[in-house]
Amino acid sequence: MAVEAASVRSTFLGTSSVHVTDGVSGILIDGFFTRPSLLRVALGRPIAPDLGRISDALSRGGIEHLDALFVAHSHLDHVMDSPEIVKRVGGVLYGSESTVNVGRGADLGEQSMTRISDGDKYAFGDFTVRVFEGAHSPGDRFPGTIDEPLVPPAKASAYRTGGCYSFLFEHPTGTMLVHPSANFVPNKFEGLDVDLLYLGIGALGAQSAQFQNDYWHHTVEATRPDLIIPVHWDHFGRPLNKKLRPMPRALDNFAKTKELLDRKSAESGIPVRFQKPYETITPFS
Ligand SMILES: [Zn+2]
Repeated sequence: MAVEAASVRSTFLGTSSVHVTDGVSGILIDGFFTRPSLLRVALGRPIAPDLGRISDALSRGGIEHLDALFVAHSHLDHVMDSPEIVKRVGGVLYGSESTVNVGRGADLGEQSMTRISDGDKYAFGDFTVRVFEGAHSPGDRFPGTIDEPLVPPAKASAYRTGGCYSFLFEHPTGTMLVHPSANFVPNKFEGLDVDLLYLGIGALGAQSAQFQNDYWHHTVEATRPDLIIPVHWDHFGRPLNKKLRPMPRALDNFAKTKELLDRKSAESGIPVRFQKPYETITPFS
């Protein structure tokens, strides 16, 4: 344990992209800043990383160096820009074989990529990152795996799920779980006790009350956070430099999710607060 561990800062960068650093080590979850138009995605038009938007997000987010970039799963809104980000600011890309194939398609060297599995633990300075394999939110539009190098431009449907993961950050000053996809494996997080839970709520409003209750039970009640910050709720067809809006009503029911969060927060006494894009917080102080 460090005697004087530096304070941890975390910055929200849209969808489930979260940058975590203690000033010495830097880790990003999910590299996705291109945010292509949903119409292009829906029409199956080819899309590719937008290098200008990637540069802009990295500089506005103050990300100059990374030790690691962990990818929750290989849909475009999690993996798409990850190889380009590693090329720019360094670090190793951690993800499923499908994610590694996205890296290969962008000519990222094998030495810059690591395949992850459930239960893996990686150390970066004072941080330990633990990998929990999970399940994609119900209604996965592009299931399956990416079995060969994915070279952009490519259709959204080429970005198949691969494995689906959550990441537990342990640091001498506190603990946080980043849980990008709104589904659960029963009892997977049993016994954790985290300071902060980044809770994926994508499409949660469209699920049954039973599912919503079970989801809350196996994520929030299991990990007993002091604070919940919802992620993966924003309309990712809009650029990050505009005010974030919820996903369109045809794809999610954000109002219903908001109601659920308000009610659960009041019942449990656990605060739920939304983080603005590029807003940095010190979750453990
Ligand atoms: Zn997905």
